[in-house]
Amino acid sequence: MPLINRTLTIRQLNQIDAGRIDRSKDLRVKLVNSYKILQKTSFFQKILKFLGFKETLNYYRLFKYAVKSNSGSTYTVFIQVSPGFKQQFYDNKIKVFCSCADFMFRSAYNLNKSDNLFLNKATKIHLDKALEIAPTTVPGGTTHICKHVYACLMDFRYKVHNQGILK
Ligand SMILES: [Zn+2]
Repeated sequence: MPLINRTLTIRQLNQIDAGRIDRSKDLRVKLVNSYKILQKTSFFQKILKFLGFKETLNYYRLFKYAVKSNSGSTYTVFIQVSPGFKQQFYDNKIKVFCSCADFMFRSAYNLNKSDNLFLNKATKIHLDKALEIAPTTVPGGTTHICKHVYACLMDFRYKVHNQGILK
């Protein structure tokens, strides 16, 4: 199924091939930082504020992971969640990024199209032309994320459910 401007849920992102899932088990993931990013006030919210309604501040939550492979390479993964993260973990729509080549050449272009790609100044510079050139070969056709992002999502799910990381 082509990705046409339709944001994917974690369930859909996670549908990667068995080989990648298997290889993700050898990775060591570590949450290195988390950030709160204030959501920009919408025009509608501005009107409510003008009318005297109390302003509610909404934050995006950004999580930065370091992922180490057996070969000794370390990659940076970002996971961004929107305000109002749902109880059903896999139903949420998120944005992700990984600094590895697999992500750059196979995932980034399509994730950008479906609004699932985490972009800031640094990741934009890193991905560069990969954002403009569609991948020519996508093994299996359905791989949305690399094994590093997959491993981080598994850790993130554990932290959401067992450590209340989003509270
Ligand atoms: Zn990766």
